[in-house]
Amino acid sequence: MTEKNSEEIKAERHKARQQKLKDGVDAKIAKAQEEKGILLVLTGNGKGKSTSGFGTLARAVGHGKKAAVVQFIKGNWECGERTLLEGAGVEFHVMATGFTWETQDREKDTAAAMEAWTAAEKLLQDESLDCIMLDELTYMVSYHYLDVDRVIEALKKRPPMQHVIITGRACHRAIIDLADTVSEVKPIKHAFDSGVKAQPGFDY
Ligand code: ATP
Ligand code: MG
Repeated sequence: MTEKNSEEIKAERHKARQQKLKDGVDAKIAKAQEEKGILLVLTGNGKGKSTSGFGTLARAVGHGKKAAVVQFIKGNWECGERTLLEGAGVEFHVMATGFTWETQDREKDTAAAMEAWTAAEKLLQDESLDCIMLDELTYMVSYHYLDVDRVIEALKKRPPMQHVIITGRACHRAIIDLADTVSEVKPIKHAFDSGVKAQPGFDY
C-alpha cells in the first residue's frame, strides 16, 4: 500500500472540514422554520443604507409583492429609485421639505415630519402591503420631530407578515431592540471626502 502524500492528506482534511461546516449550516437551515414580517434596520455612517433598502424592495416587487416607500428626508434632486419603482407600481410618499438641516423653521419641519409619519402609519395598518421602506426615518426620532414610542407602537401593531425596512444614521436603541435584523454600514472611505461630487445615477 502506498502512503498518502501530503496533498492527499490536505485534500481529505479540507473535505472533512467542509462537511462539518455544511452539517452545521444544514442544521441551522432545518431549525429556521419560522416565517414572519421582518423589521430590518440599516444604519451606520457608511454609504449603502438606502440603496440596500431599495434593493430589498426591488426583490419584493420582483416576486410580485406589494411595496410602498416613505422618504422622510428629501433633497431637491430626482431620486432614480423612485422613478423606477413608481413605474413598477410602488407607492411613494415624500416628505414635503428639503434636507431638514438646510431649513431653520422647526415648526414647519415638525409638521412635515408628522404628515409623512401619518402616511407611514396608514401603510403600517394596510394588510395588502408586503414590504414598506421608511427611508431616513431615524432622523425624525433623533431630531425629536417624532416620538419614538409612537413609532414602536405602530411597528408592533402592523400585520404580522409585513416586512419593514428603516434606514438612517444613529438609529434609536428602542427601534434596534425591536428589530429582527440590524446592519451597520461602516465607512472605510468615501469619494466625497476626496472632492468627488454626488453623481446622479450613482449616488441618487
Ligand atoms: P445611499 O443612498 O447611497 O445608499 P445612504 O443611504 O447609506 O447612501 P445617506 O446618508 O442617506 O446614506 O446618503 C445621502 C447621500 O449622501 C447619498 O447621495 C450618499 O451617496 C451620500 N453619502 C452616504 N454616505 C456618505 C459619506 N460617508 N460621506 C459622504 N457622502 C455620503
Ligand atoms: Mg439614505
